[in-house]
Amino acid sequence: MKAFQLIGPGKTELRDIEAPVPGPGQVLLKVAGSGVCHSDLHLLHAEQLPFPMTMGHEPAGWVAAIGPEVTGWEEGQAAIGYIVWGCGVCRHCATGAENACERFPRGLVPGPGLGYPGAMADYLLVPARALVPLGDLDPVDSAPLADAALTPYHAIDRAKAVLTPSSTAVVIGVGGLGHMAVQILRAVTGARVIAVDVDPARLEAARGYGADETVLSGREAATEILDLTKTGADAVFDFVGAQPTLDLGAAVVSSYGHLTVVGLAGGVLGFPAAGPPVGLPWGATVSKPYGGTRRDLHEVLALARQGRIRVHVDRHPLSDAAKVLDDLEHGKIQGRAVLTP
Ligand code: NAD
Ligand code: ZN
Ligand code: ZN
Repeated sequence: MKAFQLIGPGKTELRDIEAPVPGPGQVLLKVAGSGVCHSDLHLLHAEQLPFPMTMGHEPAGWVAAIGPEVTGWEEGQAAIGYIVWGCGVCRHCATGAENACERFPRGLVPGPGLGYPGAMADYLLVPARALVPLGDLDPVDSAPLADAALTPYHAIDRAKAVLTPSSTAVVIGVGGLGHMAVQILRAVTGARVIAVDVDPARLEAARGYGADETVLSGREAATEILDLTKTGADAVFDFVGAQPTLDLGAAVVSSYGHLTVVGLAGGVLGFPAAGPPVGLPWGATVSKPYGGTRRDLHEVLALARQGRIRVHVDRHPLSDAAKVLDDLEHGKIQGRAVLTP
């Protein structure tokens, strides 16, 4: 089968490799679509990985073969992959929160394209536990729900207590994850939504996804957001994680507000212990969530079925994977690119 592999730092190749055979507890998925995440760019530039590694951690497709001891699946059934593969038995995995699996204490829980062979290939081997039926949802258009919707859903769910109808939420970075975050905020909370991006076209699109206000990222952004909110933002979701966006989040989060950093662009959040006006306001909480839970994936699929969230998909053949990564790096992908084998 074809597989798009990371073969060294900054180096990729579309290779012919043996198609895997499902062992006990595993299912072989024929990949319909594999979403391309900005994390794939972080991986591309990482120095230490188990090379070669097939990329792709937003998988959806059809069941192609079923391993021994697997029940409840039929060949041809459409499914999406839950992408955090913990041990499946610890107290966190027992609740479906494999993103907090105890077998990887304080570390990264692996998944497809993140340690295990990923979905930028004709076939993907998946633990049966990690598959969720798609039903009528299209497996190409749904693939990004596995991360681009799961991760913001989880982040928003954790900040629910402050996301009341009188609150304001700020979404920094309305790309793959951010354009889903705006829609999820609309669907599951009553909060007013302010979208922030460096790209005016994405801000325009954000209005279509349900943002009430838009602010161009830059020097004036903090003042504009404080003018719009008066007391600061009850919840800030940073889907960039660069120094300027972390500084912006810290500057606009309200007292007892919640700052969630999802983006991984290398910024560092300062945390002076002194009281305001230095550093964060009183009571502010900061979190750095990873992916989501298996239960969150079910909730995301429910929102998609209800038509309340929809991925803006930009389809490309798997053979164009290297070019798509390059386009993503240069800000040329709107919404989410999905590779189709
Ligand atoms: P993307 O490239 O699709 O979107 C990024 C968006 O941020 C773009 O719209 C871009 O214009 C905007 N942006 C860039 N610099 C900005 C700035 N200074 N101010 C405001 N906006 C800015 O990326 P994505 O796939 O949505 O991923 C976003 C980040 O989230 C990445 O760092 C990725 O690695 C990370 N991520 C984390 C998790 C997790 O579990 N924590 C999961 C998935 C992705
Ligand atoms: Zn990702
Ligand atoms: Zn576990």
